[in-house]
Amino acid sequence: MKKDKIIYMDHNATTPMHPEVLKAMEPFFTDKYGNASSLHSKGREAHAAVDEARTAIGNFLGTEAVDIIFTSGGTESDNMAIKGVGFKNMDRGNHIITSSIEHLAVLETCRFMQAHGFEVTYLPVDEYGIVKAEDVRKAITDKTTLVTIMHANNEVGTIQPIAEIGAIIKKINAKRPKEQRVYFHTDAVQSFGKIPVDVEELGVDLLSASGHKIYGPKGVGLLYIRKGTQIAPGSLGGHHERSLRAGTENVPGIVGFAKAVELAKKNFKENDRVKGLRDRLYQGLNERITDIKMNGGPDKRLSTTLSVALRYVEGEALLLNFDMKGICASTGSACTSGSLEQSHVLKAMGVDAVTAQGTVRFSLGLDNTDAEVDYCLKEIPKIVERLRSMSPLTPDQ
Ligand code: PLP
Repeated sequence: MKKDKIIYMDHNATTPMHPEVLKAMEPFFTDKYGNASSLHSKGREAHAAVDEARTAIGNFLGTEAVDIIFTSGGTESDNMAIKGVGFKNMDRGNHIITSSIEHLAVLETCRFMQAHGFEVTYLPVDEYGIVKAEDVRKAITDKTTLVTIMHANNEVGTIQPIAEIGAIIKKINAKRPKEQRVYFHTDAVQSFGKIPVDVEELGVDLLSASGHKIYGPKGVGLLYIRKGTQIAPGSLGGHHERSLRAGTENVPGIVGFAKAVELAKKNFKENDRVKGLRDRLYQGLNERITDIKMNGGPDKRLSTTLSVALRYVEGEALLLNFDMKGICASTGSACTSGSLEQSHVLKAMGVDAVTAQGTVRFSLGLDNTDAEVDYCLKEIPKIVERLRSMSPLTPDQ
């Protein structure tokens, strides 16, 4: 393994775009540049490509094309789901339920809703970062209009019991008049394309996903909206996206997103290989380094994600030293990693401060190899040993 080669293990932050995705997108920057809303042939060409992408992605999610709204990414989809359902239904209720381990795209939107007269319940999680479905049932009141719980966590990879929660909400809705229903949204940005995500099996009314987490382009995502869902538009203007999201469609992005979905389907089995690499990385680190702890459950976890505490050293110092050896990892969410704030996810899981401080997230992907894991196992223990020898946190040895 050459030292000058980058070993990229931060796929939960973003993924390299697949060359076939780029190839599929290219004509839509050059020859096929039409506006999908234009009536002439160039417009119709672009419109047909968007339609085709919508149908393919709808199929992948177990639904129809008409239920998919294209957005600029997971953040916009989460915002649109929460604000859109919240405000549209506020005459009958102002209560939203979420979890304490959501991505900031959900948490900050929920805080915004609180500032606008909504009450938000932030459900706790267990030591593995899992929400109890029963807690959702207990939290629902007559004023609840929306439950939003993520499918898989971006920092520790734990997978939530979404189908179980969906079934509980369905039962509650069966006893209520249609206008009183509780809507269920899931942020599936990290799970989409990695584990089965079928909106019927999960029992969700709204679902967010993003292109750049699955070897697709940045700046494109989707919001699935079940037929009949009462939701306000995310942006106003033209009549794009069923008048729910005004703005000229990002045709190359949408085409690339659909190609990435097609490839994800094809490469589904590859996730087992990635899981094998991830587990070998953890086992190897565990054999070579003392005082290490994995965050998140042993199972019910994305095959890509390893959140591991290398105690008595600072996560940031680890990352900088990894980077000097060509290894790209993260301390947690890319959106919060610059802030030096303790991870809200680890805090919610009851992880102590020293463990949280020394936590790094490796998120592996399709481009990682056995040789890269070997290189990490050779270099990381040396880095940890050196940093620990200088750390005031290290207990007397
Ligand atoms: N939700 C989760 C769980 C994420 O991991 C991310 C990105 O890291 C987002 C939402 C935001 O998605 P995007 O980067 O497409 O806005």
